[in-house]
Amino acid sequence: MENPGAGRFAPSPSGELHFGNLRTALLAWLFARSTGRRFLLRVEDLDRVRARAEESQLRDLAAVDVTWDGEVVRQSERGELYTAALDRLVADGRTFECFCTRRDIAEAASAAHGPVPLYPGTCRELSEEERQEHLRERPAALRFRSGGGTERFTDAVAGDHEGPVDDVVLRRNDGAVAYNLAVVVDDAAQGIDQVVRGDDLLPSTPTQLRLGRVLGFAPPSYAHVPLVLGPTGKRLAKRDGAVTLTDLAAEGLTAGAVRDALLRSLALPEGPLEQALAAFDPARLPREPWVFTGTLG
Ligand code: GLU
Repeated sequence: MENPGAGRFAPSPSGELHFGNLRTALLAWLFARSTGRRFLLRVEDLDRVRARAEESQLRDLAAVDVTWDGEVVRQSERGELYTAALDRLVADGRTFECFCTRRDIAEAASAAHGPVPLYPGTCRELSEEERQEHLRERPAALRFRSGGGTERFTDAVAGDHEGPVDDVVLRRNDGAVAYNLAVVVDDAAQGIDQVVRGDDLLPSTPTQLRLGRVLGFAPPSYAHVPLVLGPTGKRLAKRDGAVTLTDLAAEGLTAGAVRDALLRSLALPEGPLEQALAAFDPARLPREPWVFTGTLG
């Protein structure tokens, strides 16, 4: 049988999902299922200190009918894959050690220009002597020697997009693998060829595309979907009131009613997802964020 490809939802288990996250998950499910793909769930729990919400997240996804294929994958169990990719990048000269603190970068970046603060290049060409000197003070983080410039791609929702490629951190100076490396390695290793996620991640995509290319991976297709915004116009958050299924249940709203409100916001038929699936057309999705004004529906 031909490989049908796969889509995914990849939450960070740092807290209960709110209905903005659930809406993105629904969209990822619809994109995958409407194209005959498998749909995978990956828990991005590299930051273990904050990884406490997996159970509630899986429960809430299932409650709004977002079902997945196979076992849930956890990044915390995949260290060897990331190390192998990192070793290849190091061997190919595609990394460099960086000793900058956040403050160093903020100061250097504020002196630079451009809307996205990129790594200012401070440690890109250190001499061996400078390196030894820094190492006496703190361990190094490992950054991507990206080559800079831009990458261009066509997004199923955001359209043609071109953005700068950054020398992002691949391994933090405490040894932890960074998100940008893990996401690229996992999508390739899991056979994910369709990435649907919130449009807050659009600026990371050119760098992730470049990193995937350097590692020899085929690029996935992308759909960056508009987020739900709270009443103040900022991305929806806990402070905006009853936003999780638990909060909403306390107000008398069932998970089915929340799912229906989300489907309505996408101009899709309510009820079990089969009907939404039959009506789903990416070209007709709202292109604007959905502003939550205090009541669902
Ligand atoms: N774990 C990331 C988040 O929750 C999403 C990563 C992705 O979809 O690429 O924001």
